[in-house]
Amino acid sequence: MAWDFSTDPEFAKTLAWIRTFVDETIIPLDLLCEGLNQKQLDALWAPLKEEVKQKGLWAPHLGPEHGGQGMGQVKLALIHEILGRHSLAPEMFGCQGPDSGNAELLAVGADEKQRERWLYPLMRGELRSTFSMTEPFTASSDPTEMTTRATRDSDGKSDFWILNGHKWFASNASVSDFTVLFAVTDPTAPPHQRASMFVVERGTPGMTVVRDVGSMAHPHFSEPGHLYDRIGGHSEVVFENCRVPAGNLIGKPGEGFLLSQKRLGGGRIHHAMRCIGQAQRAFEMMLERAASRKTKGKPLGQQQMVQDMIAESYADLEAARLIVLKAAWAMDQGDDHGSSARGEISLIKFAVPRMTLEIIDRAIQIHGALGYTTDMPLEEMYRTGRALRIADGADEVHKQTLAKQLLKQVKPVEPWPSEHVPTRRAEAKKRFGARIEAVRGLR
Ligand SMILES: Cc1cc2nc3c(=O)[nH]c(=O)nc-3n(C[C@H](O)[C@H](O)[C@H](O)COP(=O)(O)OP(=O)(O)OC[C@H]3O[C@@H](n4cnc5c(N)ncnc54)[C@H](O)[C@@H]3O)c2cc1C
Repeated sequence: MAWDFSTDPEFAKTLAWIRTFVDETIIPLDLLCEGLNQKQLDALWAPLKEEVKQKGLWAPHLGPEHGGQGMGQVKLALIHEILGRHSLAPEMFGCQGPDSGNAELLAVGADEKQRERWLYPLMRGELRSTFSMTEPFTASSDPTEMTTRATRDSDGKSDFWILNGHKWFASNASVSDFTVLFAVTDPTAPPHQRASMFVVERGTPGMTVVRDVGSMAHPHFSEPGHLYDRIGGHSEVVFENCRVPAGNLIGKPGEGFLLSQKRLGGGRIHHAMRCIGQAQRAFEMMLERAASRKTKGKPLGQQQMVQDMIAESYADLEAARLIVLKAAWAMDQGDDHGSSARGEISLIKFAVPRMTLEIIDRAIQIHGALGYTTDMPLEEMYRTGRALRIADGADEVHKQTLAKQLLKQVKPVEPWPSEHVPTRRAEAKKRFGARIEAVRGLR
């Protein structure tokens, strides 16, 4: 019987170190980084990354054969809960999206030559990457509809692919070294075998990063030509007769869907756990404010409606943490990159960001006007957290996946609902009627 909620004491010490590192180094340092570009930031961050490497915590998401720590999803989830306290923390540990997901994709799909070129440098933190799937003029919740095309060709000396299409929300494309591109290679194939994955390196002629799109995270930019000169931008990218060598195809033609699924399972657990880190941080601010701010001669925390917000938030937080850890555990049990934990992963993908936003919203409420200002981190946490109800698949899509899985396990019943009380009573009477009669006469 294994049903254990405890954390291994040695690992608990590691988690405590990470928490101190995030709260006392990364969060305060980032308060001073306004206006620095990526080159300056990389120089500033290098010693922090070195410290993480010295601790043996760098790139915990893949196994040692790919240059990572191979910790398994449960430990990774616990680490991500702490890293989630600040959006920059995963970068310092070499496990930030979209690089970690791209590394997972390359680990399963790339051949050794491709791994040498892109995967291992990515794992060492020498390269940055982007994942380009979403298209502005295609409902990208349904990847079978994608229009970006890859056509194979040859000039007699070498084989290559010609790429044409329009992508957006390709996170970090303005500062990354390569993008992993999802493009249709055979429009006549069955829907889930039409697309393939390619690596397109920065500077390849025909690939243009048009702009970083203004968003709730960065409301101030949107003009064509506006490129965010540090990680965190969401880019619009156009491919016009962009030619890449045949060796830039990852896996086989038609494996794009398969590879994208392998990329997303672990990433969704880490996203969800980072949400919990955000929610936990908001919850701590909520408690502090409730204990410190007074109204009508007593702390806010003595008002019953404030207590209601605290209790509801704690219930949400505990429930969210447990379902994410269960999904991580389920993923560790399988050897299929999350396919067998698909239902659990869809559940956390829509349930956890929603709970997180509710907790941050309550924390803002308890802070009153201060919560709405940029003097507190809550407004930024709320704006950026909103993305997670859309990124990596909209809530509705994950609800559908989960509901379909649950319904698969159920057979239709005829003629009555199996819980129909008069029917069940009649059946019970047949089975137990004599026993009831036997005791009825007792005094
Ligand atoms: C901050 C952020 C970062 C992102 N990073 C990346 C990235 O790095 N790379 C990348 O390729 N993409 C990225 N995305 C894009 C994201 O994955 C897509 O936005 C998402 O898959 C939805 O696609 P769409 O925007 O085309 O919405 P659509 O597919 O047009 O859907 C719009 C809405 O319709 C509803 N809907 C859609 N399908 C269904 C359905 N089957 N049933 C019921 N309702 C439905 C949902 O409410 C959905 O939100 C990012 C998005 C955000 C916000």
